[in-house]
Amino acid sequence: MSNWRDNIRLVEPYVPGEQPDFPDMVKLNTNENPYPPSPKVFKAIKDFDADTLKLYPDPSLHLLVDAIAKNYGIEDNQVFTGIGSDDVLAIAFMTFFNSKKPILFPDITYSFYSVWAKLFKIPYKSPELDKDFMIKAKDYYSDNGGIVIANPNAPTGISQSEDFLIDIIEHNRDVIVIIDEAYVDFCGKSALHLTKRYDNVLVVQTCSKSRSLAGMRIGYAMGNPELIKAMDDVRLSFNSYPMTRLSIAVGKAAMEDADYYKETTKKIIETREWTKKELKRLGFTFGDSETNFIFAVHSSFKAEYIFRKLKEKHIFVRHFNSPRIDNYLRISIGTQEQMQYFITELEKILMK
Ligand code: PMP
Repeated sequence: MSNWRDNIRLVEPYVPGEQPDFPDMVKLNTNENPYPPSPKVFKAIKDFDADTLKLYPDPSLHLLVDAIAKNYGIEDNQVFTGIGSDDVLAIAFMTFFNSKKPILFPDITYSFYSVWAKLFKIPYKSPELDKDFMIKAKDYYSDNGGIVIANPNAPTGISQSEDFLIDIIEHNRDVIVIIDEAYVDFCGKSALHLTKRYDNVLVVQTCSKSRSLAGMRIGYAMGNPELIKAMDDVRLSFNSYPMTRLSIAVGKAAMEDADYYKETTKKIIETREWTKKELKRLGFTFGDSETNFIFAVHSSFKAEYIFRKLKEKHIFVRHFNSPRIDNYLRISIGTQEQMQYFITELEKILMK
């Protein structure tokens, strides 16, 4: 009997939302943006010279890094980019969480955090959110190896105040505090300015949500140059060319059209507020979402039942079979028309 199986690292992977492909579907299950990317992105793809693909891309990602830095009014050496913020976060975990003390993140949050912790053998603890899905600051005062906070949080959609974040950071000046801002543009309260005041804070954002580029896989982290250099060194220790020439060109074009994305984000926020009113009318309750999704529970119908019934109509929302949240549905915000159709069909299900 050979024993090679003993040396395999067995992991339980993160399970992303399904990607069905029906022509008539309404896809509200993975927090994608229903609007197309900026016209500048279309132009960048049209103008892209495929002949250049025979050459490796620029390992410093200079054009993309520079466009991100300009957009946020920071320096190039304060920006790290990766293949979606999943990649950026994974590298941040690998770079900054090397203590024997547990890292801390809430029990209800982006479920990839615990997957990376297990993959990289990082000890972790997940203090419980309170009954309103808020983080209890005191849980984060204990000795730890680092902190990760999604703000606004996913899948709850709720954000913590800046004072709360400052309190957590002030209590944790000896470890890295990662603030995952995947959905921040839908609430407009970024902690980026705190990276100037606190050298141990890393803010992570993505082009997947507010910039309509989930399919292109572009994420980035911003923080003090020492943090960025450490992440670059880890990155360059296993892949010199993290991003394709095409994603560099597309990411740059997206970063250069802030006005377009302000418009589409505004439309999503308006539709979100309309959807909140309709969901309330239909008997749902939820925390006050500041993202492009609503995490809602119904007063009498089970989430699993509604989820299944919607699916029969090719309307896809997300249902997590996890403790404390298994009676909730996470509903991404589509276009106004999509949400009107969703509410009409939902109402029919609840009338039966
Ligand atoms: N952080 C949070 C909180 C998310 O919900 C997601 C999306 N699944 C990500 C990060 C990763 O997004 P992406 O890799 O597309 O940038």
